[in-house]
Amino acid sequence: MHLKERDERVIWHPYTQMKGALPHRPIVRGKGVYLYDDEGKAYIDAVSSWWVNIHGHSREEIAERVSLQLRTLEHVIFAGFTHEPAVSLAEQLLPLLPGAQEKVFYSDNGSTAVEVALKMAIQYWNNRGEGARKKILAFKEAYHGDTFGAMSVSGRSIFTDAFSDLLFEVEFIDLPNEANIAALEAHIESLAPALACFIFEPLVLGAGGMLMYEAAYLDRLLICCQKNGVLCIADEVMTGFGRTGTYFACEQIQSKPDMFCLSKGLTGGAMPMGITTCNQKLFEAFYSHDKMKTLYHGHSFTANPLACAAALASLEILKSEATLQNIQRVAQQHATFAKTIQGHPKIKTIRQTGTIIAMEWETGESTSYLSHLRDRLYLYFLDKGIILRPLGNILYILPPYIITNDELSYIYDTIRQALDEI
Ligand code: PMP
Repeated sequence: MHLKERDERVIWHPYTQMKGALPHRPIVRGKGVYLYDDEGKAYIDAVSSWWVNIHGHSREEIAERVSLQLRTLEHVIFAGFTHEPAVSLAEQLLPLLPGAQEKVFYSDNGSTAVEVALKMAIQYWNNRGEGARKKILAFKEAYHGDTFGAMSVSGRSIFTDAFSDLLFEVEFIDLPNEANIAALEAHIESLAPALACFIFEPLVLGAGGMLMYEAAYLDRLLICCQKNGVLCIADEVMTGFGRTGTYFACEQIQSKPDMFCLSKGLTGGAMPMGITTCNQKLFEAFYSHDKMKTLYHGHSFTANPLACAAALASLEILKSEATLQNIQRVAQQHATFAKTIQGHPKIKTIRQTGTIIAMEWETGESTSYLSHLRDRLYLYFLDKGIILRPLGNILYILPPYIITNDELSYIYDTIRQALDEI
């Protein structure tokens, strides 16, 4: 039996209505920006496989390091024990983060990194005897993950609909801009005594539609929150590790968040891992002889040595001159391309931050994740050997940084062709 049929019998795929689902293509190999299917067809992975493979696929440097680690220490319980890769990774990562981050808490993915941050923020106030401060502030179009806490702080949408009664109440605000910033500040001031924290995706809201907003207004929100004691959590699960042109998007603001959530590009896509970091103020609220002030949270695979090894190798690649130049080059290529299709009648909006470029296609209807255009666009590009996974009628490119100018040109030309043909 072919893999597609075997898959259909036993697999339930993520974010997929299995009835009438498009067939799942078997991928047998990945190298650089390319993935290869079982018939030998090559695809440019222009979305870095859900935004994780920032350095492309099957990187030798990562493979070597993980392979060595696998033969040395593949796993150890992380309560009562420690190991070199976990400590080294924390030592290397903390100074890179803006905002005097002092401690790393390991978990498994982006959603768990968010859960940990939310629990830290809520318990921070509890530990300080101010348990009434437990409301969370978030953006209306935010996406922070699929576990219950992460879903609660994400915007209400088709993703959360079935669970709406079970999600905790959150104060949602609009993305800031020149017109609304003063009103948002006043709103935060009025809510502040009940607010535990503000969680946000800096500069770019990913799954919400690659929505972008200005650093200056984010700064004003953070200044207002911090002036009023509200803890600030930067969810850099998608924006982290060079994606927006700097190591972290929050380098582009003046304020310093209290916590960071990281995952995706952290391991270069080789292993699943999440990280929550915090500053000294946060940590100190838990540091006590009182056992009730402990953060009672952990996962079986906390600080898995293989994932730490992958992250160490990935970080080394990220910090290399070649990668930093690639990030700037990709951003420049995107900017040049954007100019060439700006004003096209089928393009409603086009926006770019660093290595991310997003285009909203005119459909004659309002923008929607369920847009009829989605599958047509998706299949059109697959047919041309490009993996793009539109969020409804929003098409975006979020490539591995090693993508060449020729490969980018091929994607841009194919988009232009799609504008003529679809
Ligand atoms: N936060 C953000 C900003 C994300 O983009 C995502 C994933 N798309 C998550 C959290 C959740 O990460 P994961 O899918 O690894 O649970």
